[in-house]
Amino acid sequence: MNLLRCPKCRGKLEPIIYENIEVDRCCQCRGIWFDSSEAENLKKLRGSEKIDIGELNSENHQEALETDIICPHCNIAMIKLLDIDKHPIWYETCPQCQGIWFDAGEFKKFKDNFSHPKLLSKALNLFRFHKK
Ligand SMILES: [Zn+2]
Ligand SMILES: [Zn+2]
Repeated sequence: MNLLRCPKCRGKLEPIIYENIEVDRCCQCRGIWFDSSEAENLKKLRGSEKIDIGELNSENHQEALETDIICPHCNIAMIKLLDIDKHPIWYETCPQCQGIWFDAGEFKKFKDNFSHPKLLSKALNLFRFHKK
C-alpha cells in the first residue's frame, strides 16, 4: 500500500475505518481524505462526524485558498469547491479520481449541511398522508 501524504501539510495520512468505510486522516492537521464515494456514504451514517476530530483553523484555511492543493493520489491540482448551506465550507476535489479533501472540522459541517432529518421525516409523513 502506498503511503499517502497530506496535501496540505505533508503529514502522514493514516487509515481510519468507520462502519466499514475507510478514509485517511492526517496525523498532523487532522484533515480527512475521502475516495470518490466515501464522503457521500459517510455523511449518511449516523455518528460518522466522530472521525472529524480536529477544529477548523480559519487562518490556515485562508492561506490554503491561495495555494494549489495537489491530489495525494494523482499528483494534480485539485478544484476548490464552495458549499453554501447552513455553513459555508470550502473543500477540494480531484478532477481525476474524484477524491475529496476536507480540512479538520469541515466534514462535520459538510455533514450538517445535508442532515435535516426532521424535515425529511416530515416530508415523508406528508407523502404518506396524501398517498392512499
Ligand atoms: Zn495535514
Ligand atoms: Zn486524484
